[in-house]
Amino acid sequence: MKLALIGFGQAGGKVVDEFLAFDERIDGGFIESAIAVNSATADLQGLERVPRENRVLIGEARVKGHGVGADNELGAEIAESDSDEIHRALDSVSIHEIDAFLVVAGMGGGTGSGGAPVLAKHLQRIYTDPVYGLGILPATNEGGIYTLNAARSFQTFVDEVDNLLLFDNDVWRSAGESVQGGYDHINREIVERIGLLFAAGEVTQGDHVAESVVDSSEIINTLTNGITTIGYASETVETNDRGVLSSLDAGSGLFSSLTGGEEEIEGSTTNRMSSLIRKATLGRLTLPCDVSSADRGLVVAAGPPRYLNRKGIEHGRQWLEEETGSMEIRGGDFPTTTRDEVGAIVVLSGVTEVPRIDHLREVAIEAQERTEEVRASAESEFESLMDTGDELEELF
Ligand code: GDP
Repeated sequence: MKLALIGFGQAGGKVVDEFLAFDERIDGGFIESAIAVNSATADLQGLERVPRENRVLIGEARVKGHGVGADNELGAEIAESDSDEIHRALDSVSIHEIDAFLVVAGMGGGTGSGGAPVLAKHLQRIYTDPVYGLGILPATNEGGIYTLNAARSFQTFVDEVDNLLLFDNDVWRSAGESVQGGYDHINREIVERIGLLFAAGEVTQGDHVAESVVDSSEIINTLTNGITTIGYASETVETNDRGVLSSLDAGSGLFSSLTGGEEEIEGSTTNRMSSLIRKATLGRLTLPCDVSSADRGLVVAAGPPRYLNRKGIEHGRQWLEEETGSMEIRGGDFPTTTRDEVGAIVVLSGVTEVPRIDHLREVAIEAQERTEEVRASAESEFESLMDTGDELEELF
């Protein structure tokens, strides 16, 4: 399905840049337009792919292009007061060509954390297309202010979008990587999952696979409300000299070399596909949650057409119905020609059992209380420091 992508803040802009790279790499054509909004000039200049005319600087009168310094209330204020600047950039979007908006932001900072919910509210008021959010949660070691920002932004953002897709940096950061190197790697992981999902709904209906290809309406019907987490599992495949699928990914053991007859091959590809769907669901999700709490789901098998085994997808879909107890698990495939991977994307939407969100809220409430206490005691300490009685006269 065709998206208008808007990256808000530094993380938002960088992830949108990565989406553009991915769309180009897979020849997906799912991005109709890409815009980056920021209060920091340097962050906008650092982008590589978002067209220059689509980079919008807001809050210049207040912060002079220096950013809002993790103050998300200020981020929300300048997004509101400079909304005309953002709408001017949106005027260049061919609205009749798009199926949805996707607003991307890191929720722990200032500009994106405060601004993304404001923009979502405006988009909902003006346009009839669905507005989705992609929120990135800060790692737990980033500190109290980031947690507090994220909790408050989450609370607001989720109400302003049709669905909020969440990605938790905490689960995805790997030890030993530099912060920047870590983000580059994480951003690729984000985009591979979410990009494949939206690209799946953009396949021009081909010949032999047409009836099972995921349609944008299936994505829209899955992302109806609440929050969403996504799982993904893939295997590298190649065709050996007898034209039979074999595996390059020795670690997983799911795709061992096939040498049997047609029936055996059919059985194995069925098992492999349903195994990939289980692996995607039970492996690392973009936001860990109790899978059984999902309200709706969508299973997408992506890869070269000959490896997309319909029976396998159906088995996997049925298994997910049992796991979630939901009758709304959709399934389909996404034939790709530019990737030597076969993969399963599992979208779990309307999830409610999410320990990370509970924890985020608890820590944020504590941080808020502590901030208020510290502020109150700092004020009274300052008063007593300055209290010299009537002994000193002020200059004027
Ligand atoms: P803003 O520019 O004021 O909106 O703030 P940032 O986007 O710089 O930072 C907000 C949060 O986003 C940080 O606390 C990090 O958790 C996260 N973050 C920053 N840059 C990246 C990035 O490139 N990728 C990811 N996944 N997260 C990022």
